[in-house]
Amino acid sequence: MSVRKLIKTVAAMLAALMVFMMSSGFKSEVRADGNPDSVRQFVERLYRETLGREADEDGAADWTNRLLSGGSTGADVAFGFIFSDECRALTVENSDYVQVLYRAMLGREADEAGLNSWVSFLNAGHPRSNVFAGFVNSPEFTGLCTEYGIVRGNRRYVNPDLPMIALTFDDGPSGRTSELIDCLQSRGAAATFFVVGMNAERYTDTLARMRRAGCEIGNHTYDHTYLTRLSVTDIQGELGTVNDIVRAATGTGTTVLRPPGGYHNETVDAVAGMPLIMWSIDTRDWQTRSTQATIDHVLGNVHDGDIILMHDIYSTTIDAALYLIPELQRRGYQLVTVSELAEYRGGAQDGVAYYRFRP
Ligand code: ZN
Repeated sequence: MSVRKLIKTVAAMLAALMVFMMSSGFKSEVRADGNPDSVRQFVERLYRETLGREADEDGAADWTNRLLSGGSTGADVAFGFIFSDECRALTVENSDYVQVLYRAMLGREADEAGLNSWVSFLNAGHPRSNVFAGFVNSPEFTGLCTEYGIVRGNRRYVNPDLPMIALTFDDGPSGRTSELIDCLQSRGAAATFFVVGMNAERYTDTLARMRRAGCEIGNHTYDHTYLTRLSVTDIQGELGTVNDIVRAATGTGTTVLRPPGGYHNETVDAVAGMPLIMWSIDTRDWQTRSTQATIDHVLGNVHDGDIILMHDIYSTTIDAALYLIPELQRRGYQLVTVSELAEYRGGAQDGVAYYRFRP
């Protein structure tokens, strides 16, 4: 092959890779801001951990430049290595693949429980990219990138072609909400919390943790008043107070509204200033107060694009959700925020009520 032909082939392959990476949900919003040496070290360690060899000069320089220019995120580069033919050839067995993810993306050896859980997930037929997403969205990967001066930001990896649902929790936060956040974060998952202001102001640390974990914070009024009974000024007051509490705790306000009871009218729609998010699966967890009934209701009804209603003020619901989060993932569902679900499924407009976002 002539040199010119070789260059052309490589350029075509890179272009194809970029198109694939864009279509698989990667965004290029995040920029490396570290010094070139530490970013280069990030690339060199990926060569060692995924390919088992030292970097070649051209390849290392190319990946380093992409990170420094902001054209690629740490996740993009890790994807490029892990899904390269060279790495695939070294990770034919699922257990080898998972072990490479632990070393390359978390910087440590796999623990036995984690290894077994991901390998059985793969053996059940789930795609490797789902497991990759779990690692990319973990706080440990963010931490590893940060060590090398690569700011990954809070943009999560979502594969638009695979099933996704939104878990939503109303009326909190409560003392056990942080357990949900821990579980979501450790699995690379996210949820949406429709908080009421009177609880939100008691748990401002929990609000901050939600935001850091990539979860979404929605508005559920200050004191759970039915908005259809209020004047325009009073609706604005209810929503504005919650926004102020959330903004003070996290830097930004609420992004979606769930009116208490689901009650809304033309006035509420006009004043909302954000999409109204209803639900397609009502677990009735507040009524049954049964962990098993909540689990059964979700698993018996869930479909791609569902919005699931639960309440994180009940201990029975927290226990149900701690079981459901890994179980829904095992069944192939990506757990995303309401706004992520909307983004990949046609979008959402202010003042319009949505019940689900089907593919
Ligand atoms: Zn409520």
